[in-house]
Amino acid sequence: MSDWIGQLIGRYVILEKLGEGGMATVFKAHDTRLERDVAIKIIRTDTLDTEQFLARFEREAKALAKLQHPNIVNVIDYGDHENVPYLVMEYISGGTLKDRFGQQASFREAAAILAPIARALEFAHKKGIIHRDIKPQNILITESGDPMLTDFGIAKILGPDGGADLTTTGLGFGTPGYMAPEQLLGARSNKSFDIYNMGIVFYEYIAGRKPFRVSDLSEMLLKDDEEIAEHLKRFLPPQLPEEVIAVIVKTLAKNPDDRFQDMGEFAEMMEQFAHAEPPPPKTPQSSIPQTGLRRLANLPNWVKAGLLAGAILSLTLIAVVWIGSGIFLRYAQQNASLIADTTTSPPAATLMPTEQGPKPVAEPSSTKIAAAESTPTPTSQHEQEKDSKNHVSERDGMQLIHIPAGSFTMGYGTGNADESPAHEVTLDEFWIDRTEVTNKQYALCVRAGSCPEPVSYGSYARQDYFTNPNYAGFPVIYINYEQAQAYCEWAGRRLPTEAEWEKAARGTDERIYSWGNTAPNPDLLNFNRNVGDTTAVGSYPNGASPYGVMDMAGNVSEWVADWYDPGYYTASLYLNPPGPVMGIERVLRGGSWEDPNIARIRIVDRISRQPQARSERFIGFRCAVSEE
Ligand code: ADP
Ligand code: MG
Repeated sequence: MSDWIGQLIGRYVILEKLGEGGMATVFKAHDTRLERDVAIKIIRTDTLDTEQFLARFEREAKALAKLQHPNIVNVIDYGDHENVPYLVMEYISGGTLKDRFGQQASFREAAAILAPIARALEFAHKKGIIHRDIKPQNILITESGDPMLTDFGIAKILGPDGGADLTTTGLGFGTPGYMAPEQLLGARSNKSFDIYNMGIVFYEYIAGRKPFRVSDLSEMLLKDDEEIAEHLKRFLPPQLPEEVIAVIVKTLAKNPDDRFQDMGEFAEMMEQFAHAEPPPPKTPQSSIPQTGLRRLANLPNWVKAGLLAGAILSLTLIAVVWIGSGIFLRYAQQNASLIADTTTSPPAATLMPTEQGPKPVAEPSSTKIAAAESTPTPTSQHEQEKDSKNHVSERDGMQLIHIPAGSFTMGYGTGNADESPAHEVTLDEFWIDRTEVTNKQYALCVRAGSCPEPVSYGSYARQDYFTNPNYAGFPVIYINYEQAQAYCEWAGRRLPTEAEWEKAARGTDERIYSWGNTAPNPDLLNFNRNVGDTTAVGSYPNGASPYGVMDMAGNVSEWVADWYDPGYYTASLYLNPPGPVMGIERVLRGGSWEDPNIARIRIVDRISRQPQARSERFIGFRCAVSEE
């Protein structure tokens, strides 16, 4: 995208890149007519039906240009440059609210910044415009420190004109982690989305983290309001006034009917908090009206039971539809064949001649371990084109590979039923572990008291696999989903979503294997028992993915965040898909050292296991993270 720099688009000269998101790249540009700097948002068109999009884009740009408010970034102009749509906005020089996040802040400060944003949204709602993607990156700060809301680029216009809204086809926009439960489930856009989004931003501002990680989202949907309230309190500062907690709980209620019904009500609370007396020594007799949590607590039990029953009923309905669509049957069949395929590998004695049995496992030399643990020498071509955004985690020394924002093809149209249809998916940028997590790294987490030990210390051919320093740089195994999740959380990361994993392995050229389309061989990966057990992570530079991510084929199968639903690709979100909202088993990717079937090594192959299941000798994981 840097090739835009210096180009003239309309009357704007592109100066420098300011940033990019899932849908677009934003540049600083100079307006040659009015002689001032502007920001120009160039929409990526690789996943769009351009003609249809341009028509909708024009309609929306016109509506946005009418949205004039002191705390909304003005849309100045729009157009298309050789079929590439762009939006011209005021240039705001003070960075985004995200730059301030990461540490806990006082609720007064958070409320003071968010109050004008809430008023701006109240104004937009009155005009029938829903933002749908409120997040700290979309709140820009002016030179004088005022917050400005931007990126109504994905907003949809309410009312009859919005009839062609993408959400009606089950597709949606938004950023997981900020999206309301009903937004995740594909509901028609509503101002309740924005109210919930604001609740998450308020929470994140105060707590220094989002309340739910992407991998928690599906569990969150199954929790009742009281459990959610408990979860929310976990990361909030202990001295936070009850009124503030109550507003958070109410804003993040699962059922939109239990939230504030109007952004103005939320804005009013923000204004009150912004002006609250600094540190009240005891909970004061506040004039703040009673809010959701207390109201909920005051409800008679039969009402609460009714709410819960309603929630269960709606989930049951989803399950019934799911089963009714025949997916469940396919799921059961596929699962049966999966068990036959990977769990019951024939006894070593019958499968392999003695030289391939447990004993002659390629034992590592100590130099190999050292190589696996320290920064590798740049052997592959990918290392040479190293992305400057790659970096090393301070927590566990893992190298994190930057995967740029943009779209790729997920799935394989003519493969197994659960890989189909192949479909375009667009992801925000993220970082993924260069290799699988090692024994040594996992042991750090065990020592810190944050990870349960692996259920076995051995591996297929080695009794002391987890504890013997010779295997320190080998992938940790016998890890269930919950342990993998605990590790990633300890390390300040999370499990990759299934889409992220696939993109990191595949890049954008629809290849079948991480290295390309040539057939698997022992120089590219550890599979088909040709080593007889796991190998040190990063041992196969020739098998690296286009981004330089290692071991995406073979060695160990890897947990990813998503629930497994064999029919998911038929209805998947195309922007940052978080996976099905519920399920029985979690997805594993990448094949393993013992897979005899090369179909299992393909990037697109999907298997699954129950998350709490005692894990196995071929299962490990790696983590990912969304922010540097
Ligand atoms: P996202 O909102 O996901 O970060 P965008 O494509 O909307 O993605 O924007 C990318 C980045 O460009 C923003 O994070 C912000 O740093 C910058 N940006 C967007 N709009 C402006 C603007 N009007 N003025 C200055 N910087 C902007
Ligand atoms: Mg934005």
